[in-house]
This record gives sequence, structure tokens and C-alpha cells, in this order.
Amino acid sequence: MRTLEFIEQVKKGKISVEENTKKVLEEAEKINSEYFYFNSISKELAIQQAREIDKKIKAGKAKGMLLGLPVSVKDCIVVKNVESTAGSKILKGYFPTFNSTVVQRCIDEGAVIIGKTAQDEFGFGSFSINVGVGFKTPLNPFDKKRVTGGSSGGSGGYSQKTKFNQISLAESTGGSIVCPAAFCGVAGLCPTYGLVSRWGMMDYANSLDKIGPMAKTVEDCALMLNVIAGRDEKDSTSVDSKKEDYLSYLKKDGKKLKVALIKETFGEGTDEVISKKIKDRLVSLNISYDEIELPLNYKYSIAAYYLMSTTEASTNLAKYCGMRYGAHEKLEGGFNEYFSKVRSLNFGQEAKRRIILGTFARMSGFRDAYYMRAVKVRTKLIEEYKKAFSKYDILICPTMPILAPTFDETKKLTPLQNYIIDIMTVGPNLAGLPHLSINIGMEKGLPVAMMMISDHFQEGKLIQFSKEFEK
Ligand code: GLN
Repeated sequence: MRTLEFIEQVKKGKISVEENTKKVLEEAEKINSEYFYFNSISKELAIQQAREIDKKIKAGKAKGMLLGLPVSVKDCIVVKNVESTAGSKILKGYFPTFNSTVVQRCIDEGAVIIGKTAQDEFGFGSFSINVGVGFKTPLNPFDKKRVTGGSSGGSGGYSQKTKFNQISLAESTGGSIVCPAAFCGVAGLCPTYGLVSRWGMMDYANSLDKIGPMAKTVEDCALMLNVIAGRDEKDSTSVDSKKEDYLSYLKKDGKKLKVALIKETFGEGTDEVISKKIKDRLVSLNISYDEIELPLNYKYSIAAYYLMSTTEASTNLAKYCGMRYGAHEKLEGGFNEYFSKVRSLNFGQEAKRRIILGTFARMSGFRDAYYMRAVKVRTKLIEEYKKAFSKYDILICPTMPILAPTFDETKKLTPLQNYIIDIMTVGPNLAGLPHLSINIGMEKGLPVAMMMISDHFQEGKLIQFSKEFEK
């Protein structure tokens, strides 16, 4: 059943939300015991929300775009009274007293919040293997020896594995929505920076973080965007954009759009089966396209992204010192000693690496050479994209250069090889451009993904174009 149909049935009182929610929770627990997609399942909250919705339906008072729909939420997006840790031991025991704006908007539209999904600690990774100390690593839904992708790995895996209608709220700084969508074979939409409120999200890098949906279909992503997009007084970086109905783009002709492939992303370094599959699908759908080059992005985006993101991350993580939130240690010694002890014991290895890298890049003496230069490069990269969008509606590339790797394969990668994996995704994230990953088939038993990028606030075009592939 399509999610929109499910919601219609709920509205008509043909589906009991409580019964459905209980089945969803039972399945989620079962999946979780094998695949580790949730850091916590909010059973009581979900059942309570479901009962209230059923009551309203009986009283003829129920309304909402997500009525009765289960929604899972990446752990870094806070949910009132549900442990929210961003996948880090340092936030163990933190139960927020408020809902993030996106979660509140979902609840206001009748959603049932079922739990917090697994992720790389604070979003630091592309495989969901950098989980916090004591957390379990989510496993790929097609092959347990492989990764889900990251950092929103739990959202990707669960969206693939569940048999029920469900949408997940995920987050991307440099590719964390589209990467796990690719490796898990689902749809993931990262919106324009500023379109969706970040209020109540635990920051990784403020100038880059975006919240967006992951789900089985693009239609579900469009539905969720209808709910979460729009200005929020609490987030000064959220934009007062015109309200759109993203679902309406599904009825438009995707073939009317002007399309170009990003040439460099189909060459060396990309698994040939992926390049071939994308081109074959375009040809079989009779979609004509040009090829363009984005040399600046290809050459500089990784360096600029990792400088900027680690710099911002290192400042953001300073607040986790074992005083205000989460993990505490025995209070002894001076502040510096206590601070070091808490952070040594409760941050994982990758978080520590990024704190060191980021602190270095913004130190006086180095700031101009690294951070400020990265800021300037970012502007150049945006200009390069803008030029391309003066001619084209959609740019296409593989979402990831490889199919989901095994855990053993990832262990052999150096930090630099790890970071380079993001070559396709960091550019649009640095430029704040919307991008969408969809599954376009299978190779060697694993999902193959294609990514589409459009100009700022042109999410509609991504939806319109991608629909051609879901027919
Ligand atoms: N893989 C990238 C990183 O590690 C992106 C992660 C993200 O978007 N949160 O920074």
C-alpha cells in the first residue's frame, strides 16, 4: 500500500493506528535485534500517540498530512523525553525536554514517533562504522557483512527493511542522507540549506547541516518535505521560502527538464557497473543528456569540506564536557583534568580525530592558511555549480563511487581514503544545493544508486525528474 493510501485509510477509520503501531514496533524490535538500526525504540510514546489519534478519529476530529504514520528519527534530532545521543556515549542519559521543530511538525500532522535511528557518532562518517563507544554498528539490509552507509545508516537500513509504511527523518552535513540511501537501496532527499529548520538538531557543522527525509519512495520523501519545509522563527538560518506542494511535481513530465551528467564522476575511481547502469537506464528511458565538467569541485571539494566541517565540529563539540548534558565522571581535579577525562572516556576515535584536525585548522597562525582559504574555495565551488544551473535543470552523478563495501574492506582504508569516498556528495552539500538519491537497480546483489542535483530551492525538479525512474 502506498503511504498516501495508508493515511487515507487511517482518516476513514479503516485502520486502527494503535494496532498498526504495535505491529510496527514488534517488527522494529525484531529487525533491531538482528540489524541494529535503532539506538532506542520509543514504544510507550508511540503507543500513547497512536491511542490519542484513534480517539480523535472516533470523535471525527482527526486531521493531518501524516495521520497515523510511523516516523523514525535520526538520533541527532531531538525528541522530547526520548534519549537522544547523536550516537555518542557522551550524551548517554540525555532526555530532552523539548521536541526539535521537525519532530514537532510531524507530531502536529499526526505522525507516530517510533524511535531514534543509529548513526556515526555526531555524523562523523560515511559507513556508520564510527558509532560511539558502546553502540552497535548497523548492518546492511542486503548483506550483513556490509555497511549501511553513513552517517544516517539506521534510517537507511530500517527504511529498506520494514514492511510497513514509514518515513525517516535523517540529517546530512556532507552526504549522510544520500550515502546510506544508496547503500541501502532507498530514496533520500537532502534539501536546500535553510529550507528545513535545524532547531533541535545536534550540530555537526552549522553551515552545512540539513535535515531531510529517507523512505522507500520519492513520493514519501515529497510528502515529508511538505510537512517539514518552511521558515522557523527559532532557526535564524531557516529561509522564508514560498510554500510548495512537492507532491504536485510527481504529476509533471520529468523529460521536459534539461539534464547533464557530471563527466568526472563517471571516470576513474568509480565502479564501472555503477556508471554503466546509470547510462543504460537513461538510454532505456529515452532521456537525452549532455555531459559537463566541474573541475573545481572535483579537485577541491573534499579538502574544503573536511577543513570546514572539522573546524565547525571542533567548536560544536566543546560544549560536551560532562557538566551540562549526558555522561558524567567522578568530579575530581581541576576543570581541565575533568574535561579531558570525560572526553577521553566518552568520545570515539573519529570524534577525537576531528576535534584535533578542526582545532588545528582554526588556530591562530593557521586560520588564514586553512579555514579562511576553505571558505573562499567554497564560494568558487558555488559559482561553478551556478554556472551549470544557468543551462541545466538537473545534474547527474553516481551517489557513491562504489557499491556498499564489506566491514573488512573499510578496515583497510586510511582516513584519507575514507574521506575521498564522499567525492560526489560533498560538493552539493558545500553549495547548499538540494540533491536526491534513488535506487536504479541491483548489481551483484547490491543496490545501485543515482544522484540528482538541482539549483537552490528546486527540490520540485528533483522529484519531477526522479519519478521517471520509479514508473
Ligand atoms: N561522510 C561525511 C563526513 O564524515 C558526511 C557525514 C554527514 O553528512 N554527516 O563528514
